[in-house]
Parts: sequence; structure tokens; C-alpha cells
Amino acid sequence: MSSRLSVTINLGAIADNWRQLQHRLGANRECGAVVKANAYGLGMAEVAGCLAAAGCRTFFVANVSEGAFLRSCLQSYSRVCIYVLQGVEAGSEQECLDFRLRPVLISEAMVRRWASFTKEHAGEPCAVKLNTGMNRLGVDVGSLPALLEAFPAFWGQQVGLLLSHLACADEPHHPLNAQQLASFEQALARVRKVNAQIKASLANSSGIFLGERYCFDVARPGAALYGLNPTPEAKNPMRSTVRLALPILQTRNVSGENYVGYGAEACVSGPRRLAVVAGGYADGIFRAAFPKMVGRLNGVRVPLVGRVSMDTLTFDITEVEGDVENGQIEILGDYISADAQGAAAGTIGYEVLTRLGDRLRRAYLSGAE
Ligand SMILES: *Cc1c(COP(=O)(O)O)cnc(C)c1O
Repeated sequence: MSSRLSVTINLGAIADNWRQLQHRLGANRECGAVVKANAYGLGMAEVAGCLAAAGCRTFFVANVSEGAFLRSCLQSYSRVCIYVLQGVEAGSEQECLDFRLRPVLISEAMVRRWASFTKEHAGEPCAVKLNTGMNRLGVDVGSLPALLEAFPAFWGQQVGLLLSHLACADEPHHPLNAQQLASFEQALARVRKVNAQIKASLANSSGIFLGERYCFDVARPGAALYGLNPTPEAKNPMRSTVRLALPILQTRNVSGENYVGYGAEACVSGPRRLAVVAGGYADGIFRAAFPKMVGRLNGVRVPLVGRVSMDTLTFDITEVEGDVENGQIEILGDYISADAQGAAAGTIGYEVLTRLGDRLRRAYLSGAE
């Protein structure tokens, strides 16, 4: 057995999650995959490879260098489209062409720059992102009419996808969802007057669950593929994909009053059995996870005691019966979600996954397991 800590990633479950979303969208819509940030920490090459093998043909990354790497991973899939969500900064235009990347143009200035660049260089079609109310990236819908008028040929021939992003898709009753939808539909109708074929994309993972009107032609799920719950108000419809079990380094029986860990912040009393495991904040386990985090050992939930150290965590395993030598305490898995661990640390499952550290070897299950 390798002494390196490892996190196990079930590629079969990720592919299943993609198939489930594609099925939900139906045959007339396309389920893409967002694989930015190293596929939310799980490994871009492996994740994208398994999704391409499952039939996914549209991928989204954050920036041009992620796109270039993804293109090299998916060389055997010539028909794969790669969209770059932050678009193309000045100076990266040629790299975009070389790797056949499709920039998502996020500002009026970027639209103008790419429109004039592509006059001389034919490349992949691009996308334009609209700001429909989140006020993060995107062309303001108010400046759309002028842009359409200034570059009719560009809009007609080069822009293949119109997109926008929902701010509150995980809160189905939030009024901003319907406002953003209406604003997007209005802008889409305007753009379709100059390009009747243009495709549209609004939904991230949670957006897919807001109803058919939100789904348009192409969906852009990330989180749900990796097993995070796209419907936080209901049971998670996705399969879990990540298992992180930390090896027990030492157990200790204590009695009376005892402090545990830095700052003596935790104090246990009575006869207790403690287990120290490998794994700490250097591996992406949040310090803020104390005192709410729990792990799981032999099917029993065990609470964290004491502060998270750089390389170790301590759990109270008093309730666990039997031999635990060579045991492992699970902190992510089928029964303990990244969403729950995120909540325990005052954050979200997305951050739990993307912080999984480099010291954790990624071990991959292909699916049948
Ligand atoms: C990250 C991102 C997504 C994916 O969102 P999830 O909530 O992970 O499904 C979709 N669209 C854009 C523009 C993004 O930045």
C-alpha cells in the first residue's frame, strides 16, 4: 500500500451524472461540461477524457491556458468544442486560433477587438456573454443594439452561441431567476433577427432544474457532474463521485479532563478514545471546519476534536467498537458529502472540491467498481 494520501475519484459516476443531465435535457438540447479549475480539483485530463468518451462534445474552461491544455487532452476527439468563459485577452488571439478555442466575449471592448481580429483570421465561431443581472462578466444588454448594428456580419457569421449566467439558480424561488430569464429571452430575440441560427445557453447545474424554459440549447453544468447537489432544497439527485478517507496514524485512550490540539481549544472529559489521522489544512481541509466537522469510521459518525493542524486531524472515536488499527476515517464519500463538509466550515461544496490539495494523489475508478 502506498503511504501517500489519496482521494478516489469515480469517473464512472461522473459520466453517469453527465448522462443523467443529458437525459433530463432531452434529445433536442445539449449537455456540455464545465471543467475549469482542473475539473473542480478532480483532474481535467481524466474527467474530460471520461466525459468525451461518454459522448460530451462541448466543454467550458475559464481561461485560454486551461483551454490549450484541454485541447491537448482531447486530441483524439476532433469535433469537441472548447469555450473559454473569460474570453480572449489582448495578445492571446493567436493561441485561441492555434488550439481551436471559442472565446466567450465578455465585454463590448472584447467584442470589438475579436470582430476586427477575425476579419483577417478565420477561426472557430465565438460566443457572446450577456449581463442579465448578475453584474459579473458580460456585455450589458443595454449596449447590445449598438453592437448588433456596428457588426452585423460578425454577429451573423461568427457568433454561434449567446449565453448568460444565473446568480441564484440554486434558490428556485428567488425573483432574480425570472428577471434574468426575461432579460435573456428579450436579448436572444433581438440577436436572432440578425442570426436566426444562433444557439443559446443560460443554465448551470442548478439552472437545469429550474424548468424547461431555463434550459435553451446548451446547458453548462459543473457542480452536478461532480456530485454536488444542484437542488439544495431537495435530496441530491446526483451520484457522489469523491471519496476521501484518511489513515489513522495513532489512537489514544484518555480519562479525566484532557485538552486536544493547538490552543487547547477542545477539552474532552471522561474516558475517551481519540484517533489522529493524516490530512490537514495543507491538504485543503478547512481550519474553520472545527468544531462542526464529522467523519465516519466503521459506519459510525465521529466528531472532530480540536483544531485542524497542517498535517493531522483528531477525531473522537469513543463510540466506535472493535479494532481500528490500520483503519481510515472517511471525510468525503457516499455518506458525507462535500456540500455537508462545506457547510460545516461555513463555505460550499465547490470550495471543498477545488481546495483538495496537491499532496492528495488522485486515484481513479473507471466505473464498473
Ligand atoms: C462555473 C460556471 C458554470 C458552472 O456552474 P455550476 O454551478 O458548477 O454548474 C456555468 N457557467 C459559467 C459562466 C460558469 O462560470
